[in-house]
Amino acid sequence: MTADIDSVAVLGAGSMGHGIAEVAAIAGYDVVMRDIEEDLVENGYDQIEWSLGKLAEKGQIDENPDDVLARVSTTVDLAEAVSDVDIVIEAAPENLDLKRDIFAEVDAASGDETIMATNTSSLRVGDIAEATDQPEYVCGMHFFNPPVKMDLVEVASGERTRDDVVDAAVEFVESMDKTPIRVRKDVPQFVVNNVLTPLMGEAGFMLDEGDVTIQDVDAAMVFQRGYPMGPFELNDFGGLDIFTHSRDQWDLPVPESIRSRVEAEHLGRKTGTGFYDYEDGEGVDYEPTDGEGIDTLRIEARMINEAAKLIGGDMADPEDIDIGMRLGGGLPEGTCRTGDKLGLDNVLEKLRDLHERTGAERYEPAEYLVELVEAGHTGEKAGRGFYDYTDGGPYHYISHDLSDDGVLTVLFDREERLNAFSTDMFNEVKRVLDTVDNEEVACVVFEGAGDRAFSAGADITGFTTAEATDLAKVDETVQTIYEYPRPTIAKIDGFCLGAGLEITLACDLRYATEGSRLGSPEIDLGLIPGGGGTQRLVRLVGEPRTKEMVYRGMQLSAEQAEDWGILNRAVDDDEFEDLIDDVTSDLANGPQTALEVAKQVIQQGQNASLDTGLTLESQGFGLLATTDDMLEGVAAFNQDREADFGGE
Ligand code: NAD
Repeated sequence: MTADIDSVAVLGAGSMGHGIAEVAAIAGYDVVMRDIEEDLVENGYDQIEWSLGKLAEKGQIDENPDDVLARVSTTVDLAEAVSDVDIVIEAAPENLDLKRDIFAEVDAASGDETIMATNTSSLRVGDIAEATDQPEYVCGMHFFNPPVKMDLVEVASGERTRDDVVDAAVEFVESMDKTPIRVRKDVPQFVVNNVLTPLMGEAGFMLDEGDVTIQDVDAAMVFQRGYPMGPFELNDFGGLDIFTHSRDQWDLPVPESIRSRVEAEHLGRKTGTGFYDYEDGEGVDYEPTDGEGIDTLRIEARMINEAAKLIGGDMADPEDIDIGMRLGGGLPEGTCRTGDKLGLDNVLEKLRDLHERTGAERYEPAEYLVELVEAGHTGEKAGRGFYDYTDGGPYHYISHDLSDDGVLTVLFDREERLNAFSTDMFNEVKRVLDTVDNEEVACVVFEGAGDRAFSAGADITGFTTAEATDLAKVDETVQTIYEYPRPTIAKIDGFCLGAGLEITLACDLRYATEGSRLGSPEIDLGLIPGGGGTQRLVRLVGEPRTKEMVYRGMQLSAEQAEDWGILNRAVDDDEFEDLIDDVTSDLANGPQTALEVAKQVIQQGQNASLDTGLTLESQGFGLLATTDDMLEGVAAFNQDREADFGGE
């Protein structure tokens, strides 16, 4: 919990409200949930109870669900809900007048320093805040649906919101184990919806022009560009009325192909038809072979242009936009990163062509985009675009930390995709090992973000269009890990599959929690392991077991993997951190040169004859016999004390 916020009120017990209340209660806050009628608030409460039961069943909450539920109380009385809480989160229907009435009431009934947050998706924070006497305490706090599952929360400032209020809101979001991004200025729809809307909108305009089919556009975006859903499929999923309403509210153009469907009440999945027919037809019916000749750049250029407007207007940073698009929009990579890869000059040219051809305002290039291109910052190839790549660029998919005692932790940080490896992510792991000062590193620990996966494998969304050279990155990275001069440790909690297993096999030591699963599912994709997964495994567990794992795409329990010798140890969750600490502490305090030589001799000797291996070993031994570490080790042994190795 944050220092300033202990108690929470959530207004609205609908789809979002009950989910937000549940998230806050799981994080340990006392929550009052308010709706306008008893049965509505009870219904929300029942949904929380049901959902907590499900989370407990899946082991996704540590506490007894009844204890979490005991922190949620309900009321229909607004003053009672807000009079004694530190933050109020409003999740009432999307209607400006209603929200303004609610905020005026909250302002009157709550304490002077209560933070008042709105979960609005499309209104301006300032327009709501105006209804209060304390607009400095009003901010946006935009959760995604369903709040329990979706990790992202956009925290938005209104024109007059105080910085410390936004800081406290950000800290509060983090305390609930969610990822906040900051929207620094009052822009309707915040970041994610602004950047995502052109995906659906532009596809609609292309359909209006009559040269494309729904299936071709969806297939191109999914199979060529790696989007999780095609734009028409996504619009059907979210509801065409929601899309249209969010545009109409701000007098923005809506494609005829969308407008006409809304008028015919073909709103998408919820009404049985939209762009696809879910009742009498097959539903979504595009194929991987569809999508040839679709101008996907046209769609992405508009998304990138929206991102450029947000950055140029100082509303959001590229990093936050990209995290938002990954976690909130489900995209495999952030839109700014995509722009830098496509080339911002290509993006600008596309927008200018479209603008010239149609005169439509939506293609007008963002000033910031023009500035970047004119300055020669056209993207990754030029060394600068939205990001600066001169030192390799920022890490998007991993984070790393080197402790004072030399433990380098490399975190695979792509929790939204179970830490699956994209080409960028492989490159980042290789880069961190290539650039870190080895002299400072005693050992490396690889782990996955969250508690669901070490890594679920290589991200197959890019596979259908990946160049062979991109796929080769898998092997290069795994080899870099294998050859890294210091001891490496795979710290596995959850799924460790495909490329995740290959990275594990390239590590020196492997530890896992008992619930972890290890396997090579590549065969199910018509592939085989490509990062040493056949060769390292066979040397470890022998031919029959390797063949069984690879041929059948088998997953092993941690216990079985330990039994087969893949893991050094599988332990209970409670013992896991202590075990890793013990191992890293041994390695960090051990004689560094001897550890390095031991690794070299063991690895090189394995692939040589016994005679050669023994020669390597005795050479290594001879080399170590002259070091200070050895003298210290022997002295400590004689004096019956812990050795204090200096690393020589
Ligand atoms: P919903 O209709 O499911 O729930 C709204 C609830 O608010 C209803 O139960 C209603 O009775 C209640 N309510 C009405 N007046 C109230 C008042 N004065 N005080 C307290 N409660 C009141 O709507 P929802 O989908 O939960 O959306 C709520 C807000 O969250 C909207 O602003 C919406 O734009 C935003 N939002 C929705 C989603 C989504 O996907 N549903 C995602 C992000 C944000």
